[in-house]
Amino acid sequence: MKIALVSDVHANLHALDAVLDHMGSVGADQIYSLGDVVGYNAFPSECTRLLREKASVSILGNHDWAATKGSPDGFNIAAKAAIDFTRRHLDEEDVKYLSSLAPNATIDQPGFILDLFHGSIADPLWQYVFPSAAPGVFREIADELPPTRRRVVVLGHTHVPMALSSHALSAEDLGDFHTGVPVEKLDAGRREQLLLVNPGSVGQPRDGDPRASYAILDSESARVTFHRVKYDVSAAARAIREAGLPGVLAERLSIGR
Ligand code: ZN
Repeated sequence: MKIALVSDVHANLHALDAVLDHMGSVGADQIYSLGDVVGYNAFPSECTRLLREKASVSILGNHDWAATKGSPDGFNIAAKAAIDFTRRHLDEEDVKYLSSLAPNATIDQPGFILDLFHGSIADPLWQYVFPSAAPGVFREIADELPPTRRRVVVLGHTHVPMALSSHALSAEDLGDFHTGVPVEKLDAGRREQLLLVNPGSVGQPRDGDPRASYAILDSESARVTFHRVKYDVSAAARAIREAGLPGVLAERLSIGR
């Protein structure tokens, strides 16, 4: 089975539509969403509805939390403005759905255990695991891993695609990382016992590449393939301006930051 891993859609309907088309063309069977369906962009309700229909597994992101059952304290001004906008544009069903999500999920796959967190294992909602910190996190997970099981841990939140894997759990082998940004069509998971993945962001990539980012995970081989998908960035930016959201949110889309 091919599982499409999507994260940080952030109400960017133009990007989400393009990614859904793309995953159809590569034969994805299921969609797992890593959270932050809303925030930043102009279509929170539309994106929530689409993922509610299409995602088999969905977890909560910090923006989903802030817009429904939490608060945007600590967010910057633009992000706060987007939360206000989001609250005005989600209907009752959207709020019910988003606030029902848990911040992590564990799913048994044929060949491995799959763990999803929006942020990190230690702090599923808020902690960022950027590529620079990922090797340390990787070692911690590897140390706790039951030796007989393979495990794939998927994170979102940073908007930066990443994959780290080891051929074994011994200390020597932990040097064998696959990292790097941008990561394109990286086959990182085959035969490894631990794979740490971030599929990047659909709706607001921050690795300098404005194209929407997502990944496909093969549920038997644990092989991961990253995809970047072109979409109509200027239409998404125009929608942000027309919605009265801060212009900086439109500008960042075209530079992928
Ligand atoms: Zn996000």
